[in-house]
Amino acid sequence: MLQLSNERSFDTAGGMETGNAGDMAALNLARLIAAAADTIAAHAEELTALDQAIGDGDHGLNMKRGFEAVRAEAEAFSAKPLHDALKAIGTKLVMTVGGASGPLFGTLFLALGKEISAAPDRANLTAAFGKAIEAVAARGKSQVGQKTMLDVLQPVHDALLQGKTAPEIAGIADAAAEATVPMKALRGRASFLGDRSIGHMDAGARSTALLVRTIVETLEGQP
Ligand SMILES: [Mg+2]
Repeated sequence: MLQLSNERSFDTAGGMETGNAGDMAALNLARLIAAAADTIAAHAEELTALDQAIGDGDHGLNMKRGFEAVRAEAEAFSAKPLHDALKAIGTKLVMTVGGASGPLFGTLFLALGKEISAAPDRANLTAAFGKAIEAVAARGKSQVGQKTMLDVLQPVHDALLQGKTAPEIAGIADAAAEATVPMKALRGRASFLGDRSIGHMDAGARSTALLVRTIVETLEGQP
């Protein structure tokens, strides 16, 4: 599977290097799933607290339930071609996360699966990720600047386009989640609060940043 690190993934001309054989990708996907599920589990209470402030307080539990369901089938998912595996993850998240986030996170992975190649390089991942963000925006009838997960996804996409390194991308995701604090929510349950949504981080932006950091750090750490 691909590396995000410029040193390891890019030749001097800025081109891309594709990953190893299929079973390597499968192994790495299982590691990614485990790492993502661990991160969500470790931060479930924090995500719930964020959602309690300006939502209905179910985000941590919902995400944990969904990612544990994906973890339970990690072996089967990892045996599939990458695009099928991502679609299976998306479908599982839609079915198990629930709330508003289930369809949105599910759509992200379903659309990624639709667009990604069998052995993605950074250019393909970036393009697929861009399409997936469009799909999430359409599903949520939302756009950047409305205090949602899109406010993390879009800067991460920009960072991928700009050739940022894995640590830089993780930092950009964290900063983007922080940047939702002063925003007024215009989509989702928090939007019912109007100005009272200002001053709190969006829970979906936070979970998205956590996942981005986990994924890029796991990819970076792979041989
Ligand atoms: Mg909620």
